[in-house]
Amino acid sequence: MKELFDLTGKVAVVTGGNGGIGLGMARGLARAGARVVVAARDAAKSQEAVDELRALGSDAFALASDVTDEASVAALFAGIAVRCGRLDILVNNAGIFLKKPPQDTLLAEWQAVMETNSTGAFLCARAAYPHLCAVGGGKIINVASLVSVFGVPHAAAYSASKGAVLQLTRSLATAWAADRIQVNAVLPGWIDTPLTHAARQNVEGLNDRVVARTPSGRWGEIEDFEGIAVFLASAASDFITGAAIPVDGGYSVQV
Ligand code: NDP
Repeated sequence: MKELFDLTGKVAVVTGGNGGIGLGMARGLARAGARVVVAARDAAKSQEAVDELRALGSDAFALASDVTDEASVAALFAGIAVRCGRLDILVNNAGIFLKKPPQDTLLAEWQAVMETNSTGAFLCARAAYPHLCAVGGGKIINVASLVSVFGVPHAAAYSASKGAVLQLTRSLATAWAADRIQVNAVLPGWIDTPLTHAARQNVEGLNDRVVARTPSGRWGEIEDFEGIAVFLASAASDFITGAAIPVDGGYSVQV
C-alpha cells in the first residue's frame, strides 16, 4: 500500500511561507518529510521560518521572491531546479488585504491586491507547471478565502481577487488533470495572523462576533493548516482536484 501522507523526497515551495497561514502549512509539509522552500520578500523573516523548519527535520531554505514580479517568479523556480533538481508541490499562499469601501478604492490599490493575490498565483502556477510535469505530476494548493464565495462590503478588491483564485483553481484543475497535477483551494475563515491582527484589535466587537458566529467557538490558528496542507500535498488526495475546502470551524455552514 502506498504511504498516503508521506512526503519524504518531495520538494514543496510555499509562497508567503515565512509567517501566518503559509508558515502553518510549511510546518505540516516539513513534518511530513518534504523539503520546503520559503518564497517571500522579507529575507530576515524567511530565515527565521527556515530555521524553524530545519528544526523540524526539513532541509528547508529560502529564496527571496515577489510573486507580483514575473522575473522574480522565474528566478524562484529556476533556483529551486538548481538547488533541488525537482518540484512536487506549490502552495500559492502569498496575499495582501485591503479594507476599503469599493467607492473609495483607488485603481492602484485594486491593482496591487489583484496582482499579489490573483496574478501572483497564476504566475507561480504557470512557472511550476513544467517542473511538475517533469516529475510525472504534482500538487498545487491555492489559498483562497471564504470571501471567494461570500460578498464583503468593506473589501471588494480583496474578495474579487480571491474569487479569481477560486476560479483559477477550478480551471487549472481541469487543464492539468491529465498531467496528474491536482489543483485545490483552501478557504480559510477568520484566522489569527498578522493579516487580521489590526482588525481584531481595532474593529470594535469583531473578536466577539467571530467567536459567536463560528460553531467551533474560536478563531483559527496557523496550526489548523498543517493537516490540510499535508492532505492536499500527498497521495491521500490523488483523486481530488478542483475542490474548495473551507478551514473555518464551521463558519460557512451556519446561517
Ligand atoms: P500574513 O500577512 O501573515 O502572510 C502573508 C504572506 O504573504 C507573508 O508571508 C508575506 O511575506 C507574503 N507576501 C505578501 N506579498 C507578497 C509578494 N508580493 N510576494 C511574495 N510574498 C508575499 O497573512 P495570512 O497568513 O493571514 O495570509 C495568508 C493567505 O491566507 C493570504 O493569501 C490571505 O489572503 C489568506 N487568508 C487569510 C485569512 C485570515 O483570516 N488570516 C482568511 C482568508 C484567507 P513577505 O511580506 O515577506 O513577502
